[in-house]
Amino acid sequence: MTAAVSLRNVHKSYNKALVVDGLSLEIQAGEMFGLLGPNGAGKSTTIRMLTTLTKPSEGQIYVAGYDVARQRSQVKSRIGVVLQQISIDSDLTVWENMEYHGRLHHIPNPLRQKEIDQALEYVELSDRRNDPAKMLSGGMKRRLQIARALLHHPEILFLDEPTVGLDPQTRRRLWEIIRNLNKQGMTMLLTTHYMDEVEYLCDRIGIMDNGKLISLGTLEELRQKYGKAIVMKQARDAWDYKFFPTVEDANLFLGQQPDKTGMMVRPSNLEDIFVELTGRNLD
Ligand code: ADP
Repeated sequence: MTAAVSLRNVHKSYNKALVVDGLSLEIQAGEMFGLLGPNGAGKSTTIRMLTTLTKPSEGQIYVAGYDVARQRSQVKSRIGVVLQQISIDSDLTVWENMEYHGRLHHIPNPLRQKEIDQALEYVELSDRRNDPAKMLSGGMKRRLQIARALLHHPEILFLDEPTVGLDPQTRRRLWEIIRNLNKQGMTMLLTTHYMDEVEYLCDRIGIMDNGKLISLGTLEELRQKYGKAIVMKQARDAWDYKFFPTVEDANLFLGQQPDKTGMMVRPSNLEDIFVELTGRNLD
């Protein structure tokens, strides 16, 4: 079976600075894949290469079975893109934004109107169709971006930091939309620096740092690899911690300590693993 997304030894440099450094990765059809990393890790650059917006300096990228460098139009007709930079036009109405995108994708009428109605319905924006986009809330704007990306029925949806800056309820609502699309069979690649987003949504997680993929697997695989439990110890104004394979091992270690003041055992989470790997917090 052809992978939905395949990167082989991909490099990208800007003015001799290497921002993506030998990235190899395959995402299977139907997968919900999360690319996690601190600012500057190279996540957006990777998404920009996958969506044909910028070319790799070296290596091959195949999306939906097509080469992004040589078969751009085949790739573009099979992907939907929700990026921070490619925003909606706030002076146009919701419908006009959709109409414009539908025309760009050469969807003929009356099909175009039917697809616009369906996509707006899906993200619950039908009653806003005649409002200028500038009147929408942040969450509604993001839903409009998603509706627009869905118009031509993409096989793969790319989402760059889809919920950044949104309040918790709005984030949950977007998560449900994203999750339902994936349940219907759409392959998803999203970048984020929110741990809970990856834990809630993603089947598999790739952790990027300094342009390299430093870890890859399901949350359970990552926990298995780095340790399913940690012993925390309060050290002045910070916490020291140590990974253990299981909670039992962590409890055993704690039991052996002569002074247990300020110490506790808890299951490890993605944030622990991330901090362990990259040596810094995300925010
Ligand atoms: P992330 O999305 O993980 O925060 P980016 O892919 O945006 O990371 O950026 C990775 C690095 O590449 C950063 O150091 C950034 O400054 C640099 N970079 C990104 N785009 C450009 C560009 N167009 N020209 C020069 N440098 C860039």
